[in-house]
Amino acid sequence: MKKETAVKNLDTIITKVEGARLKVSEHHIVKIIGISKYSQSQDVATLYDAGQRAFGENKVQDLKVKSEELNELPLEWHFVGRLQKNKINNLIDLNPTLVQSIDSLELAQEFNKKLQIKNKKISCLLQINSAQEDSKTGVLPEEAVNIYKKILDTCPNIRLKGVMSIGAHVEDREIIKESFRTTKKIYDELVPLGAKYCSMGMSSDFELAIACGSNMIRVGSTLFKD
Ligand SMILES: *Cc1c(COP(=O)(O)O)cnc(C)c1O
Repeated sequence: MKKETAVKNLDTIITKVEGARLKVSEHHIVKIIGISKYSQSQDVATLYDAGQRAFGENKVQDLKVKSEELNELPLEWHFVGRLQKNKINNLIDLNPTLVQSIDSLELAQEFNKKLQIKNKKISCLLQINSAQEDSKTGVLPEEAVNIYKKILDTCPNIRLKGVMSIGAHVEDREIIKESFRTTKKIYDELVPLGAKYCSMGMSSDFELAIACGSNMIRVGSTLFKD
């Protein structure tokens, strides 16, 4: 990826984010996470030069390789993928900034146990399957608030910071919007309990997600395209 391309991609996204967030409120700040799963470390470094600081991966092994190759740069790393139990220790050792994909109470408790053994605390989001799609993980919307509270009560080494969701995988914008609204409603209920991030929106739907209240978007293909 060329430097000019990185600058152009990032500028395009920032301009769209600005437009969308200002329609919500001047004070509505949206954080952009560059999802680098289809790209190489060199492209991450190029985007860093263009000004992007926060990146995310969906496989623990890829997060390890890229964060180690780029450890000279002051990057922030997020984990957004399905977390297998046997990879929890490896993920903890990488000190991610935010684990966005805690998708069950059981996983939270296992993660917490491993964190306690290592005497560490890590910030996490609870993933919600707002579109109720079988292909996706995450807790069901109607159970989300209760599970969030249970994690707060039983997992002292998890710093729970909000929710993450993937929009409905359909063409119909109304259905996608409905899934974002579902997540936002849950997030609003959790703000009094300390929730800070409502992570929703990817390359194809981040403006819609921001209009629905997202304050963290995860963009991969549009940010890294050649
Ligand atoms: C891959 C991925 C993204 C980015 O998807 P794009 O459509 O390429 O922007 C965002 N969130 C999660 C959880 C992902 O796995």
